[in-house]
Amino acid sequence: MKVLVINAGSSSLKYQLIDMKTETLLAKGHCGRIGIDGYLKHKPLVGEKPCYYENIPLPTHDDALKAVVHMLTSPEYGVIESMSEIAAVGHRVLHGGEAFTSSVLVNDEVMQALERCIPLAPLHNPAQITGIHACTHIMGDIPQVAVFDTGFHQTMPPRAFLYAIPYEYYENDQIRRYGFHGTSYRYVTAAAAEMLGRPLESLKLISCHLGNGSSVAAVEYGKCIDTSMGLTPLPGLPMGTRCGDIDSAVLQFLMKKYGYTIDEMLHILNKKSGMLGLSGVSPDFRDLLHAAEEGDTRCRLALDIFTYQAAKVVGSYVAALNGVDAIIFTAGIGENSPQVRAEILSHFGYLGCCVNEEANAQCYGHDHWTDISGPGSAVKLLVIPTNEELVIARDTRDIVHALRRQKKA
Ligand code: ADP
Repeated sequence: MKVLVINAGSSSLKYQLIDMKTETLLAKGHCGRIGIDGYLKHKPLVGEKPCYYENIPLPTHDDALKAVVHMLTSPEYGVIESMSEIAAVGHRVLHGGEAFTSSVLVNDEVMQALERCIPLAPLHNPAQITGIHACTHIMGDIPQVAVFDTGFHQTMPPRAFLYAIPYEYYENDQIRRYGFHGTSYRYVTAAAAEMLGRPLESLKLISCHLGNGSSVAAVEYGKCIDTSMGLTPLPGLPMGTRCGDIDSAVLQFLMKKYGYTIDEMLHILNKKSGMLGLSGVSPDFRDLLHAAEEGDTRCRLALDIFTYQAAKVVGSYVAALNGVDAIIFTAGIGENSPQVRAEILSHFGYLGCCVNEEANAQCYGHDHWTDISGPGSAVKLLVIPTNEELVIARDTRDIVHALRRQKKA
């Protein structure tokens, strides 16, 4: 079975085509600047086919998807002969609110529930709904599955997900912590269990997803019990351009003093803060690490703030879990920066964490799962490249198989 995985943004559409028989990635790419002018980048990963990168007009997501299907089936760049080889489509959806605890087959009822989730993620969910509509328009009645970033965290207990504000805001408006990066946490925690040769249901894990957006999750016996992002992906750790946790009264102070509207204020907190705001140089950790090495003190400070806050969250999750078997690092920074990992882990000597410095130093830029724990470390320290698309494709396959069995019965 071949599954097309789609991640639609407001002006972009990323895709991967995966053969689920062998879990082989056949092709990947993305459409950008949809509705502006448009380009398509496509990379076939089987056969000796060339890559494609051209500016092409993409007025709508329907046009983008049409271009993707054309690429996937083209004699020159394609990896399949016809669209009928694609058995199903899996969509990444950012916010499923409390309505979705796991992945679902898209139908009219699901679409209505997705529409109701828009107020919770006004910047992301509409684009992902548009992506689903585009597939219906271009690919007909192909089965489509929605996989939610929030789903994995729905096991959190109320003591972890409720904010200490009047309870009616939860009851009436579903204001609470939801958490994100759920598909990534599912992949890396399952992989960690496999690496450790122990059932996931026996493990206490803390996973650090450190990328452009960063979060940490505490996973007890396979279930999330706490995570650092909230109603939106803004809180928790400081990130590339997001502020992370902040005293909410700061908003009032700045809005009054500078006359910002709430949208301007949120733009500053989402796009101009974090590592970029602190350093004044870049949101990218590669730039920060390089500049810090050259003596830039504000870049050094930004990195210190990041690793200190990350260590504080990990430490608080050791308490939440009352122990920890393994700490996992994943995503762009977690997978590629030995220095950031070492700086975070330097706070956990008291737990008996011991880093294998050589293994850590060698661990960047590859796809392997790596154990960077030193001899006798009381806590396993693991670097696991995430694969959110594979989780989406697996869920899609499982749901479509179940549907076929149901139809047969
Ligand atoms: P996204 O949240 O967009 O999926 P990624 O998980 O791809 O983000 O992470 C992107 C970030 O990873 C970049 O902003 C960069 O800071 C960081 N990164 C990538 N490679 C390295 C590296 N070798 N060293 C340090 N940081 C890196």
